[in-house]
Amino acid sequence: MSQVVLETHNLLKRYGGITPTNDVSIKVEKGARHALIGPNGAGKTTLVNLLTGVVEPTSGRISLDGQDITQLAPHQRVRRGIVRTFQINQLWNELTPLQSLALTVSAQLGISHTWWKPLGSDPRVAERCAVLLKQFRLDDVMDQKVSVLAYGKRRLLEIATAIASEPRVLLLDEPVAGVPEGERQEIFDTINALPPEVTILLIEHDMDLVFNFARTVTVLVNGTLFAEGDVASISTDPRVKAVYLGEG
Ligand code: ATP
Repeated sequence: MSQVVLETHNLLKRYGGITPTNDVSIKVEKGARHALIGPNGAGKTTLVNLLTGVVEPTSGRISLDGQDITQLAPHQRVRRGIVRTFQINQLWNELTPLQSLALTVSAQLGISHTWWKPLGSDPRVAERCAVLLKQFRLDDVMDQKVSVLAYGKRRLLEIATAIASEPRVLLLDEPVAGVPEGERQEIFDTINALPPEVTILLIEHDMDLVFNFARTVTVLVNGTLFAEGDVASISTDPRVKAVYLGEG
């Protein structure tokens, strides 16, 4: 039987007269390839912000493995394995991919780095970084500064950094936003190859990418859960086509 990892219960968020999350109850199953879609302003990012704890709900609850985490701070949720990437990439421009990954891997392995040793020089850190750099096709640019990398490579590094912290649930907020068409598939190839035990909730606008990735799709419209189901049912649902697919 499938097991629910992350769940929202009648989640509601209000900003004055705007309700970006309106009584949303969703279940994300263990190992899911679950996509969250909806027109601009539907409340997708707000839901991710609520799940990660950077935004507090007005009412409702969030649970992880059946335990209420609604009151936990973002860093406490990260410790429990909920990790996200952002719609707009957030990396240190002055570091290289190797150094960026080494920081996260060192923290993950409980290894404190010292200023007189290069980042990533510990053999355990170096070994793990080498695997990640290869997995995310960053080995050819591992020593270049992030600031000079192609945008697609930066997005790959962001996902690699999230994976370096060994998430149980990975929330991907528009991982190819701003990425040129030609570099998008490479990113989705690596996303599609992530280990099956990592539960993934993806926000994405490109329906071809969504339908190739997801098994379950939740559609939000105006903050409300509008439709939910497997890819076959959502991609052929005339109501969904009318509000969303028809747009693109
Ligand atoms: P997009 O696809 O364009 O990224 P989205 O589905 O992620 O959109 P949200 O960014 O969650 O949608 O926004 C949903 C609604 O909530 C929008 O109308 C937005 O303006 C509003 N909103 C989000 N955050 C705030 C805030 N801090 N204060 C006021 N309104 C907000």
